[in-house]
Order: sequence, then C-alpha cells, then structure tokens
Amino acid sequence: MTPEELRALIRTIPDFPEPGIQFRDITTLIGHQQGLKASVQHLAERAAAVGAEAIAGMEARGFIFGAAVAVQLGLGFLPVRKPGKLPIETIGVDYALEYGTDRLEIDPGAVGKGQKVVIVDDLIATGGTALAAAELLRMAGASVQNALFVIDLPDLGGAGKLRDAGIAVDCLMEFE
Ligand code: IMP
Repeated sequence: MTPEELRALIRTIPDFPEPGIQFRDITTLIGHQQGLKASVQHLAERAAAVGAEAIAGMEARGFIFGAAVAVQLGLGFLPVRKPGKLPIETIGVDYALEYGTDRLEIDPGAVGKGQKVVIVDDLIATGGTALAAAELLRMAGASVQNALFVIDLPDLGGAGKLRDAGIAVDCLMEFE
C-alpha cells in the first residue's frame, strides 16, 4: 500500500481530547492487516536508509510502530517511558505541554556510546515529545540524527524544531 492509501485508513475524531482538536487516530490503520504491515515496511525502509543501529519509540503508540520496525530490521528497541514505569534508576527529561509538564525516562544503560538511534512515533505535532526523547537519548550517549513518524501535523511546526536540533524528520503522511 502507498502512503496515500495508508492515509485513507486514519480516522479523524473531532473535539478529542478537547473541543477544537481534530484527533488523528491510528487505531483504524493498525487494525488493517495490510495497513499495519505496509506502514511498518515504509518506516523500516527509511530507518535502514539512514543507517539505524537501534530504534527508540515513545510510550505508548511509538511502541507499536517502533518495536515492529526494530524486528523488521533485526535491531534492538529502546522504550522511552512515561515516569515511574521502569524498575531501575532512570534518567529523565521534563518537557512543557500546552498545559503543564510531562516527563520521559529511559534506562541509562540501554544505549551504546555513539550508537545511531532512530526515533519512531505515530505522530509529530509541536515536536515537544520527540525533542525530549532525543535529548534523553543523547544524554545516554546515543547519536540521534533521524526521527520517523507515521503522521506529521505541519501546521504545528514540530518537524522544523527537530531540524533546528540537528534531527532530520521523515513522515509517511501529513494532515492539516
Ligand atoms: P507533540 O509533542 O506536540 O509533537 O505531540 C506528539 C505526541 O502527542 C505524540 O506522542 C502523539 O502520540 C501525541 N498526539 C498529539 N496529537 C495527536 C493526534 O492527533 N493523534 C494521535 N496522537 C497525537
């Protein structure tokens, strides 16, 4: 399936989680046999093309695509977790949300020094989540130069923010 065909499998939910937000829902994409397979294949081709040595994905939807891409390429997967989930001493980064802050954590021993880690998530909006993940992975010693997303919301400017941080962004599709 082409990225354009995959785009047609995304469901849009108006006014979720708040009035005025158009939520792009991947549930319908990952529930489709060929849709899931083709999404993972497209992402894996792009990760292989930039020389990925490991894949990192953000909890929770980044786990779905990221782990599948890692398996496809025979690489390890690094879960970037919500706070308090890992049963060890973690390193973490706090980052701003529209209202309040959030935090991401990883196992500091999960990354090899200079290892080329490619970030995978379902969607980039403002880029805050992916930037925090990149900062964290870099703190642990990773080389982070690429991030892949199923969906880009270009009006929110996230891809530009990642490029300013030295991270090339590639997405399968865009929504206004
Ligand atoms: P950002 O940090 O503003 O780039 O938001 C991206 C994060 O929020 C990702 O982890 C997404 O899973 C989630 N997100 C934001 N908007 C949507 C949406 O419309 N659909 C699905 N996930 C979203």
